[in-house]
Amino acid sequence: MSARTSLSASRPDVAVLGGGLSGRLLAWQLIRASARVALYERGDADGSSAAGWVAAAMLAPLAEAAVAEPSIVEMGALGLERWPGIIDTLPEHVFFQRNGTLVVWHQPDRAEAVMFDRRMRANAPPELLRGGVERIAGAQLKDVEPALAGRFQEGWLLPNEGQLDNRQLLRALAAGLEMAGAELHWHTEIAEGAYPDAGLVIDCRGLGAREALTQLRGVRGEVVRIHAPGIGLRRPVRLLHPRYPIYIAPKENDLYVIGATELESEDMSPMTVRSALELLSAAHSLNPAFGEARIVELNVNCRPALPDHLPRVQWDGARLLRVNGLYRHGYLLAPAVTAEACALAQALMQTTGAPAIGNFSNKAGNPAGNAFDWEAWRAGRPWPDLFRQA
Ligand SMILES: Cc1cc2nc3c(=O)[nH]c(=O)nc-3n(C[C@H](O)[C@H](O)[C@H](O)COP(=O)(O)OP(=O)(O)OC[C@H]3O[C@@H](n4cnc5c(N)ncnc54)[C@H](O)[C@@H]3O)c2cc1C
Repeated sequence: MSARTSLSASRPDVAVLGGGLSGRLLAWQLIRASARVALYERGDADGSSAAGWVAAAMLAPLAEAAVAEPSIVEMGALGLERWPGIIDTLPEHVFFQRNGTLVVWHQPDRAEAVMFDRRMRANAPPELLRGGVERIAGAQLKDVEPALAGRFQEGWLLPNEGQLDNRQLLRALAAGLEMAGAELHWHTEIAEGAYPDAGLVIDCRGLGAREALTQLRGVRGEVVRIHAPGIGLRRPVRLLHPRYPIYIAPKENDLYVIGATELESEDMSPMTVRSALELLSAAHSLNPAFGEARIVELNVNCRPALPDHLPRVQWDGARLLRVNGLYRHGYLLAPAVTAEACALAQALMQTTGAPAIGNFSNKAGNPAGNAFDWEAWRAGRPWPDLFRQA
């Protein structure tokens, strides 16, 4: 897809900065809500500069409950439900699977399973747990996941969890935006404060927004992509381990994403030998047939994380929103978080009302003096704490 600039002299209603996962999805929601949208991305139309390009795109609210707060689990459960509807609106195929997650462990690591179970049950709502966790005895593995038959003594099947193909999604969103008439500015870096002219500016630059969100940090993640015909895993498998818990997510055409390390570092340099050994050894321990797989890519990016590890939609009181902090759950959370950001953007636009939109002249962004009641609006949302005013 080629870069495209607007021929129209009129400025867009919304300029979205950063065309990774959140920026593309939010732009898509805004344009479908009839906003005129411009998107600015420093990288290419494929999305290869984004953390979202490297991710495994597992949609596992219950498995994540073992490491995340209840609000993440709630938003994630909603995200998982919403993805098929979002994908249906896109002009290109996106692999989406809802065939569960299998959690296994080697016997010496049994204590990890106990901890995982406890944390998951503490953070997940009862309705998600009901019918959402099935204990699998070793003998059942041959039916549930034939590729792992005889390899583990027990496990859990979380039958409602899902995954999608992140790269297909990013491309399909770009194609949809182009077809819907968004102004798409690929290879365009937006420096802090030098924002384009638009009614609203929404900063979705992930780690690229660090200068503005000083508490934001990157958490390095490394993944391996392999091609392994003939193994046929049916769903993502998580292997619990005290030092390097890993997952293997099977995508289409015998491609597997093995991930991910989680290191307190913003280093974007290539994968270390240690990480490659750990990830590949864990895959081999799952099934030795992975030893014959071909390594397609070794990838690194950093997850954008805030100190509380929660997502945030921040409003500056005028015409700037920031959507960030998606950390290790971006695909899980993006439908809920971007829908909430879209709702705020619409509320701001409606409060100001056309034609004033795009011509903000006071702090509330409302030349007519109709103050936007931020506190009342926020209190009416399902996750008020998602919203902050800077
Ligand atoms: C190894 C790894 C595995 C993961 N696995 C999963 C998973 O299984 N499930 C899950 O839900 N999540 C997963 N994630 C998390 C998910 O990828 C992130 O939460 C998500 O990508 C964050 O979205 P974002 O839009 O905020 O940032 P990004 O996706 O990084 O997008 C930000 C975009 O902004 C652009 N940008 C930055 N600065 C500028 C600038 N100055 N001007 C213009 N553009 C700019 C960047 O080029 C980028 O395209 C994983 C992440 C990693 C790294």
